[in-house]
Amino acid sequence: MNTIVEKDKQFVWHPYTQQATVSDHICIVRGKDALLYDSNGKAYIDVVSSWWVNLHGHSHPHIAQKVFEQALTLEHVIFAGFTHEPAVSLAERLLKYLPENQSKIFYSDNGSTAVEVALKMAIQYWQNKGEYRKKIIAFEHAYHGDTFGAMSVSGRSAFTKPFDSFLFEVEKIAVPFAGQEEISYAQMQSVLDGDIENQIAAFIYEPLVMGTAGMKMYAPEALDKLMGACKEKNILCIADEVMTGFGRTSRFFASDHMSHKPDLVCLSKGLTGGTLPMGITACTEEIYQAFYSKEASKTFFHGHSFTANPMGCASALASLDLMEQEHTFKNINRISGMHKKFVLDIKDDIHVLEARSFGTILAVELRDTDGSSYFSKNRELIYNHFLSRGIIGRPLGNIVYAIPPYCITDEQLECFYEACRDLLFLLKKNI
Ligand SMILES: *Cc1c(COP(=O)(O)O)cnc(C)c1O
Repeated sequence: MNTIVEKDKQFVWHPYTQQATVSDHICIVRGKDALLYDSNGKAYIDVVSSWWVNLHGHSHPHIAQKVFEQALTLEHVIFAGFTHEPAVSLAERLLKYLPENQSKIFYSDNGSTAVEVALKMAIQYWQNKGEYRKKIIAFEHAYHGDTFGAMSVSGRSAFTKPFDSFLFEVEKIAVPFAGQEEISYAQMQSVLDGDIENQIAAFIYEPLVMGTAGMKMYAPEALDKLMGACKEKNILCIADEVMTGFGRTSRFFASDHMSHKPDLVCLSKGLTGGTLPMGITACTEEIYQAFYSKEASKTFFHGHSFTANPMGCASALASLDLMEQEHTFKNINRISGMHKKFVLDIKDDIHVLEARSFGTILAVELRDTDGSSYFSKNRELIYNHFLSRGIIGRPLGNIVYAIPPYCITDEQLECFYEACRDLLFLLKKNI
C-alpha cells in the first residue's frame, strides 16, 4: 500500500469523516484543468471543484505565477496598522463587481468566518445606533458554516446535534421553493409583524441555491419579495454568497438576479479561484458609518492572524484576471446550456425525483424507494460508482450534483452525465 495513505491513517484526522469506517483516502499527487491524478496515475474528473472552490482548473499557471511572485515579494504582514497593495487593489476591483450599494471590504480567511463577521457587524451595527437587537432570521435547512455563530443560523441536523444547546435561537422561515413561495412569505411577514420590540437585526440567506441542503434552488422573484419585506423594516439583508459567488449562477453574483440589494455579502470558496483560503465580508457605507466614530467602543473588534494575507489577495486578483477573460463567461454559458439539456433528458426517469440546474450548478435528486435512509445507505455505492468511472461525485445523501470548474470540457461533462444515466440503470436492475 502507498506509504502516504498508511501514514495518513496514523497521523491525520479528516473533516466530516468517521475515521473508524472510512475506506482508504485516495492520495492525489497533482491536478491540471478539471482533472486530478492519484499516485497510481489514475485521472479523476473533478465535477465538485474540490469542495466547490475551484473556478479555472487545478494548478492554474496564471494563479500559480502570481502567488509565487507575491510569496517572493511579501508573504504576510499584520493587517492592523499596516496595509499592502494586493489588499487595496482587490478591494477596489471587487467593489466594481459587487452590488452597487457595497462600499467596504473586510478581510478574513474562510467562509464560516465571513459569515461570523457579517453576523457580528449586523448586531453591533444596531448597538452602535443605540438599539439592542438580538434576533436573526434564517431559512430552514440553511448551511452557513461550522463555527458557532454560523452553526446557529444554519439548520439543526446531525452535524450540529452535540452543540445544539450552545447555539443561539434564530427565527426560522421556510425556503420559498416552487409552490412554497406564499408559505415562506407569510412566515416572514408573521415574524416581522410579531417583532413589536424591534429585536430583529438581520436576515441571512444563501441566495437562490442552497448548497449543503442538497443544491436546492428557488426563484429570484421569491427572494426579492422576502428581501423587500425586510428592507421595509430596515432589517439588514446578509447574502451568503460563499458558494454562489463568481459566476456559479451565470451572473457574477447570485445577488445580481434580484432588484433588492443585500446590505452585507459573504465571500470565500471561489474568491481565490480555489487556490488559497480567504474570506471577505463586504458591507454598505451605511453599515461602515455606524462604526466610524471617535468613540473607541464603536470599533469593530474582530480580526484574524491571516487577515488579508497578501498571497491570498494575489491569488484572488489573478482569479479576477481570469474571470474577466471572455472565454470564462462563454464557458459558464456553455456548461449552463449543457446542464439544462441534461435535466430535460432525465427528469422523467422513474428514479429521478427532481433534476434541476441553475447556471453551472446541477443536481439530480434520486427517488427514495425504501424509506428515508435508502439512498443514504447507498451513498457509498453511488460514491464508488462515480469513482470507478474516474469521477469525483460526492453525493449529498440521495442527491448527485455537479459544480464543475469552468474549464471542464464537453467530453468530461458528458462522461459525468453518462455515469448518472448508468447509475439510474443500475438502480432499475436492483429493484
Ligand atoms: C462552504 C460554505 C460556508 C462555509 O465556508 P467554509 O470555508 O467551509 O468555512 C458558508 N456558507 C456557504 C453557503 C457555504 O457553501
